[in-house]
Amino acid sequence: MTHPTDHDPACIFCKIVAGQIPSRKVYEDDELLAFHDIAPWAPVHFLMVPKRHIASMAQVTEADQGWLGRMMTLAPRLALEQGCRPYPEGGFRIVVNTGLEGGQEVHHLHLHVMGGPRPWLKG
Ligand code: AMP
Repeated sequence: MTHPTDHDPACIFCKIVAGQIPSRKVYEDDELLAFHDIAPWAPVHFLMVPKRHIASMAQVTEADQGWLGRMMTLAPRLALEQGCRPYPEGGFRIVVNTGLEGGQEVHHLHLHVMGGPRPWLKG
């Protein structure tokens, strides 16, 4: 295990993973959870997180390639299931804010997956 903590009791996304804070679930397996963003910027806007607490993309190592790869390959399928139209007319945006200057507010690694008809609230 390359990460010092698997669960941070002060982390809001760890609380969501543990079921201590409710979320609108999109997908779940042993390693990953996806849920709707509470303040969506786009008609489709959900977040994908590893269940283990990893603060950001700045902390990932080669040991994380498996679940990271799975998250990236799962995102297009979930985007379509959540209502994004197919590529190329439709599509989606994947964003991973990292660090303060990267615009990260919640320090548990997460992919934003956004899509749906424009205009969007942001972006
Ligand atoms: P970031 O700026 O990339 O760290 O984005 C954090 C995202 O988490 C924002 O888009 C928030 O709207 C979202 N968020 C914060 N709290 C919750 C929550 N309890 N459930 C779902 N999304 C949340």
